[in-house]
Amino acid sequence: MLQRVWQSTMIALARPAWLRTRIQAWRATSALATRFVAGTTAEEGVARAEAMFAREGLRASLYYLGEYVDTPERVAENVAAKHAVARLLAATSLEVHVSVDPTQIGQCVDPGNVEGRAQAIAATVAGAATGRPGLNVMMIDMEDDTVVGATIALHDRLKAAGLPVALTLQAYLRRTEKDLDAQVRAGSAVRLVKGAFVAGRAIAFAGGGEIKAAYRHLVERMFSSEAREHGFYPIVATHDDRLQDHAIAAAERNGWPKDAFEFEMLLGVRESLARQRIAEGFRVRLYTPFGRDWWPYAIRRIGESPGNGRLLARAMLGP
Ligand SMILES: Cc1cc2nc3c(=O)[nH]c(=O)nc-3n(C[C@H](O)[C@H](O)[C@H](O)COP(=O)(O)OP(=O)(O)OC[C@H]3O[C@@H](n4cnc5c(N)ncnc54)[C@H](O)[C@@H]3O)c2cc1C
Repeated sequence: MLQRVWQSTMIALARPAWLRTRIQAWRATSALATRFVAGTTAEEGVARAEAMFAREGLRASLYYLGEYVDTPERVAENVAAKHAVARLLAATSLEVHVSVDPTQIGQCVDPGNVEGRAQAIAATVAGAATGRPGLNVMMIDMEDDTVVGATIALHDRLKAAGLPVALTLQAYLRRTEKDLDAQVRAGSAVRLVKGAFVAGRAIAFAGGGEIKAAYRHLVERMFSSEAREHGFYPIVATHDDRLQDHAIAAAERNGWPKDAFEFEMLLGVRESLARQRIAEGFRVRLYTPFGRDWWPYAIRRIGESPGNGRLLARAMLGP
């Protein structure tokens, strides 16, 4: 109950444009930005990624903030930022790993041009990563259920064209079992998340228990012997330590070496768990957002745990 009230209050704070503008310009809130967001520019994002890897062995997926954009100007800005960050990563020794939402690059503005833009970004990632080991990909994020089919088809066409892509699938959707099966057979890299959206019971599981059960079931498929034979790469993207433990057990049972899969978590969320996994010898990546429009993203993260209230209060009251 407390969790739900807290979360809806924080979501309400994410919306008003006037509040966003003020808060983003306010120095006192920079502690919030620093916790969940790596900076406002691609240079800052990449610098944070380099520091995380050098200090703690944490990998990064760079993500320029701004989803569901509805103007051609914002689409152009987002596309330019994705190319820019891939090129900056090329100048480091890090993996070139860039996350992209279809609605960032025109799904709501001119869907007919999304594939061309995605192709170009993936080609920049490929060029930036030439000869580099590791998971160098354009990771396609998954949005609400109305775009899932189009997003999977986009991934599949880019993969068939030989471009370095990976796909996010959501455990809360009933269709994911079939979708995952196809990706296992294709030897894809799939990031499994619970899903940040809701949908009707006809197409989605509802409630934490059902979604966790679906997640565990899908993890078994991701870590099956068949998946290994096909060269599938599992990415377990959850902060739920029990689900992570489930994945570790499935990996051990089926003989998956620790460097054949990874965990992915969000920057600033349960980082002690991320460090614990590194200490245990696993690969861990942090989804590392950057961009000038950081408030809606940061306040949603704060809303995910009432325990983050202290962080918000400290930021609002100043040092
Ligand atoms: C790398 C990554 C990429 C993602 N990409 C997508 C995507 O493309 N599409 C999509 O729909 N969803 C995406 N998500 C979001 C995902 O679907 C879930 O909404 C989100 O991860 C929360 O679920 P959880 O599995 O972490 O479990 P939860 O049950 O939410 O959390 C597990 C534990 O972590 C703690 N925790 C969680 N969040 C916080 C926080 N902010 N602060 C403090 N503690 C916290 C909880 O209190 C709980 O103890 C992504 C998530 C990750 C990690």
